Amino acid sequence: SAADVLLSVQDLQVSYNNIRAVKGISFDVHEGEIVSLIGANGAGKSSTLRAISGLIPYTGTIAFQGKDLHKIPADQLVALGIAQVPEGRGIFGNLTVYENLKLATWQRKDKQELPKDYERVFTIFPRLKERRSQQAGTLSGGEQQMLAVGRALMSRGRVMLLDEPSMGLAPVLVREIFRIILEINKTGTTILLVEQNANMALRVANRGYVLETGVITLSGSGSELLGNPRVKEAYLGG
Ligand code: ATP
Repeated sequence: SAADVLLSVQDLQVSYNNIRAVKGISFDVHEGEIVSLIGANGAGKSSTLRAISGLIPYTGTIAFQGKDLHKIPADQLVALGIAQVPEGRGIFGNLTVYENLKLATWQRKDKQELPKDYERVFTIFPRLKERRSQQAGTLSGGEQQMLAVGRALMSRGRVMLLDEPSMGLAPVLVREIFRIILEINKTGTTILLVEQNANMALRVANRGYVLETGVITLSGSGSELLGNPRVKEAYLGG
């Protein structure tokens, strides 16, 4: 229903110089859902997330819990409840794993909850626990991806925005990261996922949207889209 819309994107347009990367898309994310945005290279997936994160100019309306995000500075989004796992992971390579996690908590007022949350992250990602004192820049790509997700967990967002969490990961880790996304969702975090790995992204999603050259061309439940002949042909290898 309209009442449980957490994130609402209406007529979003993003342009770089003269190139229109996102051409007026609209979609909603409801409380408790996993919503996946799939599409090929250059379809506008990252631009959509960057607009929600307030990192690039856009037209249209993005509202979170009814608040117009145009009016909110990017550095206040975390405090509002929007946790981000950016493309390229955005971790601080010269800080340790633990310091990276700690940085994500600066805006939290419930500091007494932190020990429990570190424990949760280290339970989900035992490798990060082993490597808590290691410089993050020396982690493997997969471990850095885990750290980026761990950091978003430490910020305790109401919604988590994930940009290509499977990028560059070995198949076994891809399955692992999607298993973890499902687990995070089960504990009450709403998830907006942007992915080129359409198969995995649609398998975990309640709903999905297909983005093609800046336009949403298909939408439906995860299973509807997985069974859609056009999606099969274009994104699932026939
Ligand atoms: P990928 O999966 O390859 O990351 P994407 O769906 O995330 O693709 P975007 O990164 O949003 O796509 O890019 C959409 C379009 O906007 C592309 O054509 C891209 O070249 C263009 N674009 C993105 N960032 C910029 C920029 N900073 N300046 C100019 N053009 C850009």
